[in-house]
Amino acid sequence: MSAVTDDQLLASVPTSLYVDGAWVPAEGGRQFDVTDPATGATLLAVADGSAADGLACLDAADRAQASWGRTAPRARAEILRRAFELVTARAEDFARLITLEMGKPLAESRAEVAYGAEFLRWFSEEAPRISGRYATAPDGANRLLVRKRPVGPCLLITPWNFPIAMATRKIAPAVAAGCTMILKPADLTPLTSLLLTEVMTEAGLPRGVLNVVTTTDPAAVSSPLLGDRRLRKLSFTGSTPVGRRLMAAASEQLLRVSMELGGNAPFLVCADADVEAAVEGALLAKMRNGGEACVAANRILVHRSVAAEFSELFAARMSAFVLGPGSEPGTTLGPLIDERSRRKVSALVDGAVAAGASLLTGGTVPEGPGYFYPPTVLTGVTPAMEIVQQEIFGPVAPVMVFDDDAEAVRVANSSEYGLVAFVFTRDIDRALRLSEQLESGMLGINTGVVSNPAAPFGGVKASGLGREGGAEGIEEYLETVYVGIRDP
Ligand code: NAD
Repeated sequence: MSAVTDDQLLASVPTSLYVDGAWVPAEGGRQFDVTDPATGATLLAVADGSAADGLACLDAADRAQASWGRTAPRARAEILRRAFELVTARAEDFARLITLEMGKPLAESRAEVAYGAEFLRWFSEEAPRISGRYATAPDGANRLLVRKRPVGPCLLITPWNFPIAMATRKIAPAVAAGCTMILKPADLTPLTSLLLTEVMTEAGLPRGVLNVVTTTDPAAVSSPLLGDRRLRKLSFTGSTPVGRRLMAAASEQLLRVSMELGGNAPFLVCADADVEAAVEGALLAKMRNGGEACVAANRILVHRSVAAEFSELFAARMSAFVLGPGSEPGTTLGPLIDERSRRKVSALVDGAVAAGASLLTGGTVPEGPGYFYPPTVLTGVTPAMEIVQQEIFGPVAPVMVFDDDAEAVRVANSSEYGLVAFVFTRDIDRALRLSEQLESGMLGINTGVVSNPAAPFGGVKASGLGREGGAEGIEEYLETVYVGIRDP
């Protein structure tokens, strides 16, 4: 437990840009407010970076790249390992900061810090394993040498929903690979990234390797960077529309890109499922992060023979969530991130009800401050309804009924997204068959959580391209270079 008060914690958070190893104000001294979604109150004002500030970050990243790329993998690994230990030692501060700026219950923030820290540890172990190969060409006349080198300066853009984990999931593999970087955190939750930057520096990251620009005008900051030939990679996590725009901009100079975009996860409960286990799984898949997760179960598809039993049990458990400020003991569901999100969630629910869905619980916006929305379960949902066509990003579970596996697969695959799918069944053959038929980058079988730093996280179709975590995660930051050698 941390002994400091919220005010003392906030006073310890840097509020400037981090450029070339120094905390500096934004051009013209501009700042913007960061607010607490549980109250709407201002927490801190942080630097509002401009295009020129972004370019100063790239200048620093470019200058640092050559020597950083030559730094011994073991030295890079040790910095990451120290960062893991420092984040772990300050876990309570990070967790409280996440709850303050993002709103999730403290227990969930603690879990995110542990998850986010694991990327630092995982990639500290991957850095010394970067390797290539030396082989004889098939005709026996040449030798083939294949080696890896860092891509170069990277722009890392992160969303607000997992303020530490989305940052470490990019920073850690970039550090491990020997890339320098410019981090652009979401303007709704920049504080965690700023504290993390301080910790990374304390862990020994040399000047210029990690630069941070906070801004309310991300397009103005990112456009000149994406057009600058010194930048070699864009790694983006966020919504599909913004990802599309950034990918188009990145195509100008054929930048390497990783795109971790939106999801619309189907959650299949088969006729032979353990219904109680499926309810537990659905609660996790739907309610982790209050539903504000790209991997959130968005379309719960239940076989007709177990639909009534599942829906009744599930609605009872959903209505037991305790809605309140994330810092209050006992809270199990915090506020949504802002009023815009709440309006969107509320409109989707109202639209579904108007189109014939039934509310089993929730559906009413509570009075009072903060952007709260109750846990909500809808039944009688059909695939044509708007609520199952787009990401809900809130604590709302639409339940649909299916009659056979083929129908479930057809509905599941009808989405433009393909990030993750969940299947509950006791039949291993069915699980494997469905895992081959469902169009998604990840699949959870009899589990509601798949995220794991040791596994490749990412999607197909409009959910993006590239993978973060696992052995695959570091490859995103490495170039493959082939050297042909004539036989002596
Ligand atoms: P968003 O797309 O609005 O913003 C993401 C980031 O992009 C933020 O840092 C934002 O400031 C920046 N941004 C916005 N417009 C930009 C522009 N024109 N140029 C450059 N940068 C710009 O998304 P969000 O609301 O912060 O996050 C929620 C979205 O992120 C959801 O769609 C969710 O599914 C997705 N997400 C995906 C994953 C994944 O791994 N696939 C993980 C978490 C969140």
